[in-house]
Formats: sequence, C-alpha cells, structure tokens
Amino acid sequence: MKTKICIIGAGPAGLIAAIFSAAEGAQTVVVEANSVPGRKLLLTGGGRCNLTHQAEPRDLVRKFDEKGRFLSYCLHEFSPRDVREFFAELDVPTMVEKACPEQSRGDGCVFPATNRAGDVRDALLKRAGNLGVNFLFGRRVGNIVKENEMFAVTDEKERIFAEKLIIATGGLSWPKTGCTGDGYRFARRFGHRIVQARASLVPLVTLEKWPGQLAGTALSNVRITTRITNRKIIAEGAVIFTDNGLGGPAAQNMSRYLTDYLPGEDAPMGIIMDTSPHFEQGQLETGIIEFIGANPKRKVVNIIAEFIPKRLSVLLCEQAGCDEFMQGGCLKKEMRKKLIKLIKAVPLSIVRTGPIAEATVTRGGVDTTEINPKTMESKICRGLFFAGEVIDADGPCGGYNLQMCWSTGALAGSAAAEK
Ligand SMILES: Cc1cc2nc3c(=O)[nH]c(=O)nc-3n(C[C@H](O)[C@H](O)[C@H](O)COP(=O)(O)OP(=O)(O)OC[C@H]3O[C@@H](n4cnc5c(N)ncnc54)[C@H](O)[C@@H]3O)c2cc1C
Repeated sequence: MKTKICIIGAGPAGLIAAIFSAAEGAQTVVVEANSVPGRKLLLTGGGRCNLTHQAEPRDLVRKFDEKGRFLSYCLHEFSPRDVREFFAELDVPTMVEKACPEQSRGDGCVFPATNRAGDVRDALLKRAGNLGVNFLFGRRVGNIVKENEMFAVTDEKERIFAEKLIIATGGLSWPKTGCTGDGYRFARRFGHRIVQARASLVPLVTLEKWPGQLAGTALSNVRITTRITNRKIIAEGAVIFTDNGLGGPAAQNMSRYLTDYLPGEDAPMGIIMDTSPHFEQGQLETGIIEFIGANPKRKVVNIIAEFIPKRLSVLLCEQAGCDEFMQGGCLKKEMRKKLIKLIKAVPLSIVRTGPIAEATVTRGGVDTTEINPKTMESKICRGLFFAGEVIDADGPCGGYNLQMCWSTGALAGSAAAEK
C-alpha cells in the first residue's frame, strides 16, 4: 500500500494528527496495534476525560517547566480555547469542572459536557472517517525503514510505503492499552536520542512505614514541598495515604520532579507535607488555644482532629510523644508547639515512585532538542514527525497532558500534509 502520510498509533495524538493531515487533503493511513482506537483515552479522567485545562497558552507553557519552551509554539497554535471550539464543532461541547477540592479540581479542568471519554474518542474517529482517513486496526508495526525517500512501514500483514511518517505511539505507562515503547525503538533507528523513560504522575513510596497505618485516609488540601538542586518545588492539592506511601494529585504532581532522582533507598528524597496549608502557623496556634479554652476537658487528639483527620491526629500525637488520653487543659506550651510544627511540616522520605506501568504518564522520550518545535518534524530525518507522549515532555494532572497531545498532534498532522 502507498500513502502520503502514515501515522503509527490511534491514541489522542495520532487521531488528531490524522484529522489535521486529512483536512489538508493528504491521503492518510493510521496503523494501530489494538482492535480499537484510543484505549487509554477511554480511561482518562476516570472515564470522564479531562481533555484540557482552561488557561491562557502562556500559563500552560509554565506548567511544562523546562519543556514549556519547546511546546510554546504548538500550545499557542492550538490552544485550550481552540481545543474546546474544535470539539464543539464535533458535537462534543465541553464544560469547566466546578470546584472539587478533594480531587484538586475546580481550577479549570475541562471535561466533555456528557462526562464520557467515549464521546471524545468516537467524535474523533467519526471526523477522521468523514475525511477519508484509512484506519488499519489490530496491526502492530514491527519495523520501519527509509527506502528511496519513502518510509516502509511493516506490520503483521503488509508493507505500507509513505512519504511522511508520524510516530504517535505513546510512552510506556499502562502497557495494557498498547504502549510498549515501540516508538522509542523506531526513533532510535532514525538516529534519535531517547531520554530515559520514567514514571510520572504516580504514587510515592515512603521509607517510613506509618503512612500504611493510615491507608485510605484522604486529606483534601495539603502542600508538599521539596528542594531539588536549590529549586523549591511545591505541589498542592489532595493526597491519600496508601499501603506504602502517598497517592492523590499533590503526591502525583510531586512525582514528576522526584522521579528523576529515584529510586533512592540509600539516599531518599526528603519532602515536607503541610497538612493544614490554609492556616498559618500562628493562626493554627490561636485556633487550638481558643478551642482548648472553650473545651479544656477535650482530649488533645480530638482537639487536633478539629483541624486534620482523626486518624492522622492520633498518629501525629503519637509521633510528638503526646499521651493520647491527655486533656487539652493539661497540654504544655512546648508540646503544643511540637504538635503544631508537625501538623505544618510532616517530614517524609521518598524512596521510589510507583512502577511506570501504573504511571499516568511517561516522563522522558524522544529528545525535544532533535525535533523542530514549529512543525514537530525530526531535525535528523526529513519527513519523520512525532506527536504526543512519545515526545520527552510531560505536564501535571489537570488535562495538560492531553492538551499536549492535541497541540503536538495537530501541528504534526498539518505540517506533514503541507510539504
Ligand atoms: C488512567 C489514566 C488516566 C489519564 N487521565 C488523563 C486526563 O484526564 N487528562 C489528561 O490530560 N491526561 C490523562 N492521562 C494521560 C493521557 O491519557 C496520555 O497522555 C495520552 O493518552 C497520550 O496520548 P498518545 O496518543 O500520545 O498515546 P496513547 O494514548 O498511549 O496512544 C498510543 C497508541 O499507539 C499504539 N501503538 C503503540 N505502538 C504501536 C505499534 N508498534 N504499532 C501500532 N500501534 C502502536 C498503541 O496501541 C496506542 O493505541 C491519563 C492516563 C492514564 C493512564
């Protein structure tokens, strides 16, 4: 088979790339290993698909840290506003999530109005079909070579010859959805450097065993801080204690930064968790003093439990060496200060992240310095393009990663069709 453009992978990046290339009139073939497209897309946002984040492109750029510079052009070219308009045209109106502090949402996460990821996937597929995109499902690409200025893509059934190739094979997380890192192998073949793939947006495993005693307990709003090479990193939002550490959006967002330095059994990464960030230390102390004044016979654990969950209160009292039966009226100033200090700064040591197979996204991938940010074309191999998670760029929780797929995919699709 011969085609102008061949796209490997029918995830969000591949699907949108196909729509943008076919819309330019380019003959487009998409080869997908699974029997259906967008397997991972269907899982996003707990099945609701947090498809972007309501933010101006310049604010979005900052969320990608040092990769923001590379993504800036495409995030401006196909911004969250454009994404919402695009889906509205596909009959998928979107809405901005109402405040939901438990999930760290409410700050601009965008979902389809129907709350169904399936609607996003189906709309993409329908538009691509209407534009004449040829989908080859259930066909894993095993090999790609460049012969006489054409890419020869070999899957289980045939060889496809294409003038342009877009690799949109995703990363390494959730391999059951089809992501096995094939894109890295293909990119390497054409001389690209692959930045080591690591787990990102994933729970954290602590050296301390006590979080396991609180497994299942959630804190709706914490502030986690750490210092990495003199840079202060802050992640805010909900956390949930797990059997071996911390999960939830704040812990996951922190994992983006720690993952580069882990595992660290011998040299764990220290983090500090403020379990009550909405109160300044002084305010908290005044609140506790006033509470004790009004309820001197209340047990200290129950007084502290007015500010943080009871199970955590019991544990912090234990850590501070405070007798759990002590009445508030008997609490000495020194012990009070010790408790407040702990509430505001629980120290934890992170030894590793959860496995990459369970990570929401992969950090690492095709080195961005070898990709043209204005086209997503390889700087090494003409006619080769990249889109989505296969690229070494990852964002925090909140719709940023899908936005990155839409922006890079749209750009790759239209740029590949252009020449
Ligand atoms: C549980 C979960 C929830 C998430 N929720 C959100 C969210 O709400 N918001 C958000 O922004 N992000 C979310 N993400 C992240 C988001 O899903 C990914 O960033 C996104 O799916 C990446 O898109 P992609 O097209 O680059 O790759 P993928 O979606 O991984 O698609 C790649 C496709 O390529 C195919 N493929 C791979 N190799 C080959 C080959 N050799 N031959 C043929 N086909 C191949 C795969 O089968 C796959 O279908 C979530 C991720 C997970 C795991």
